[in-house]
Amino acid sequence: MTEHTLTVAGVAVDTRHWIGGERVASAETFTDVSPIDGSVLGEISRGTATEADLAVAAAKAAFPAWAATSRAERARILHAVADGVEKRIEDLAIVETTDNGALLRSHRRGVMPRVAHNFRFFADWLLKLDHEDFETRGHTNHVSWDPAGPSVLITPWNAPLMLSTWKVAPALAAGNTVVLKPAEWTPLTVSLLADIAAEAGLPAGVLNIVQGYGSEIGDALTSHPDVRRISFTGSVPTAQRITQSAAANLTPLSLELGGKSPLLVFADADLDLAVDLAVEQYDNAGQVCLAATRILVEETVAEEFTRRFAEKAAAIVQGDPRDEATDIGPNIHERQLEKIDGFVRRAVEAGARAVIGGHRGEGRYYAPTLLTDVAQDSEIVQEEVFGPVLTLQTFTTEDEAVQLANDTRFGLAATLATGDRDRAARVTQRLVAGTVWVNCFFVRDLQAPFGGSRHSGVGREGGTWSFDFYCDLKNTVTAPKGWKDHG
Ligand code: NAD
Repeated sequence: MTEHTLTVAGVAVDTRHWIGGERVASAETFTDVSPIDGSVLGEISRGTATEADLAVAAAKAAFPAWAATSRAERARILHAVADGVEKRIEDLAIVETTDNGALLRSHRRGVMPRVAHNFRFFADWLLKLDHEDFETRGHTNHVSWDPAGPSVLITPWNAPLMLSTWKVAPALAAGNTVVLKPAEWTPLTVSLLADIAAEAGLPAGVLNIVQGYGSEIGDALTSHPDVRRISFTGSVPTAQRITQSAAANLTPLSLELGGKSPLLVFADADLDLAVDLAVEQYDNAGQVCLAATRILVEETVAEEFTRRFAEKAAAIVQGDPRDEATDIGPNIHERQLEKIDGFVRRAVEAGARAVIGGHRGEGRYYAPTLLTDVAQDSEIVQEEVFGPVLTLQTFTTEDEAVQLANDTRFGLAATLATGDRDRAARVTQRLVAGTVWVNCFFVRDLQAPFGGSRHSGVGREGGTWSFDFYCDLKNTVTAPKGWKDHG
């Protein structure tokens, strides 16, 4: 161990930046704490504009060679990264759980395999990417997907490695080089990714990782004139700051932001399924952008739904996320808990009633909460809480259900529980949302577009949409042999 290494359950993690294929330390550090028990995990290099400049310069220097690397070779290296991730699933899972408090069992069985899959999926998609050709008056129009250049990727703490690789994999596949900045509350697993990528043979400078507070290093990255793409997942206020910062260079942005998604439960639904879907919204302690936090239930079944919901929610096991039996772990940070509690207290003061929960638990836990008697224009219905807090409202007609569902500034997702396929088709068509689930939740093919409407985001990623974002499309028009007439 060196002064720049910390260990989590025996796994060594480098606490420095990864720039140009080398570890780089900052003079200053910040403290990384586990949400499970508040224990200090270590001191992490605290990047500033200096490290941002170094990382962008490294990405710029590495870009021409990586962009010129054949698609087959880029794909081969990305598959090697996926192999490396698969070999270290246990290490990645325990480090992520310790750092962000989400369940170890889902990191082991769902999230980390998906991290590997992100690399495999975009490597394979790259090889399938079409070069379209058109013809006009004998001239061929050849469309190519040119790598755009150094890309800055900024990610949040609720699914750190998964969301980072959802951007890193397509950016690298497209031939771009990357500067990744993870959230300061969860800096560890991306540091392991740097080790894995280096071992897989990713050339120096193609992937760079900088650590630090968004407020200290963010501007230097997003206003940098050598950056060609910015992909951000996080909150709306940060997205607004990044948009302003990127404006100076007109740097194209992809923004995946917050939500206040509805779950519409119609009287014709399988009520047990609807209850399962509703209780699932507490997963990851409610720290899921896609969570359907506004439950809208048809009045005739609302009482029965609420009874069954409360019964099912009472069986949720809240506790140490490393235990197999645990359903919900802690919330990420004391500051986040205070924010959640503030939302609930203000809602109750405004007349809301807590059917379950409504208060903090021990330590960093918040009791799963369901609030009723909430007004549509109230803060608790309109704003993202990002904790285990759901609201329940009723409706009497399909029109009213759609109107309530669409009546926030967000448009990330929506979920419907209904036994009527015609209704599902009608309602889906009227909902403003990047993803709509009918009688299911969270399942999604990576080939499909992902993103949000309104304040939930700008642009779509996934499949070809990711390459659309990370590439500069070029149309090369070639005259036929012997062409003379330019008229
Ligand atoms: P956040 O906006 O506070 O931080 C996200 C990232 O931005 C962090 O890495 C942070 O350091 C960085 N940052 C902060 N200020 C910056 C600045 N001025 N310049 C550049 N970077 C800066 O968000 P969070 O609290 O980490 O994450 C929670 C939010 O993310 C929620 O709103 C949630 O809905 C959203 N989210 C969205 C998706 C999606 O795919 N739509 C997925 C997960 C989370």
